Amino acid sequence: MEVLIGGIRQPVKITRRKVKNITLRVSKTGEILITCPKCAMQWEIQNLITFNEAWILDQQLKRSRENEMNREGVNGSEIWWLGEKKQVCRVPAKRDSVTVNGDELTFYLKEETEDRIQAAFRKAAAGEILHLAEEQREVWDREICDAAGILRPAITTRYMTSRWGVCYPRKNRITLSTRLIHYPLECLEYVLLHEYAHFLVPNHSRAFYAVIERYMPDYKERRKRLR
Ligand SMILES: [Zn+2]
Repeated sequence: MEVLIGGIRQPVKITRRKVKNITLRVSKTGEILITCPKCAMQWEIQNLITFNEAWILDQQLKRSRENEMNREGVNGSEIWWLGEKKQVCRVPAKRDSVTVNGDELTFYLKEETEDRIQAAFRKAAAGEILHLAEEQREVWDREICDAAGILRPAITTRYMTSRWGVCYPRKNRITLSTRLIHYPLECLEYVLLHEYAHFLVPNHSRAFYAVIERYMPDYKERRKRLR
């Protein structure tokens, strides 16, 4: 089935199941998904979709923004840096480096190969993430580590795709994903607190989130942006 959404014909994926109501979702990739009872009529589905057109468009816009941020878009002409879109420039140079100035991100490259671009970007991202974490850590060192008599941790970064951060209580270390560089600063703030909180509570229990909520009442909003 296809529907007209925002003036564009779009496919609808319909799953018929033993359910009572018709439900509408937008997938991570922006697809329109319907789950409905086996006997649901096409016009009923159509009505639900038409009624929710504005919501669907809103969700699709959000998803495309998220996907764009998630993308390792260093080879494109634009890149997300701390939640802001930057124009990418490339300049030949003796040594590889990256600078961020206003809404421009400039790659200085000895050779313009994909590997070099990736490596230069990850290095710049790691540097910026560490710098920002160092700026923010003081309060958590005091409030969490000192208060509980725990050693202040070392903070490192790594390129990770499946996690935003890891806490190693035994090694007294926190590792942050360099991919956080694509997201607004408040996301990094959340991940840093999240990992510090693991020194107090190792799992993701209620007690754990109670610690986070105490210091960051809006943590759910921040976390949502990272999904
Ligand atoms: Zn965790």
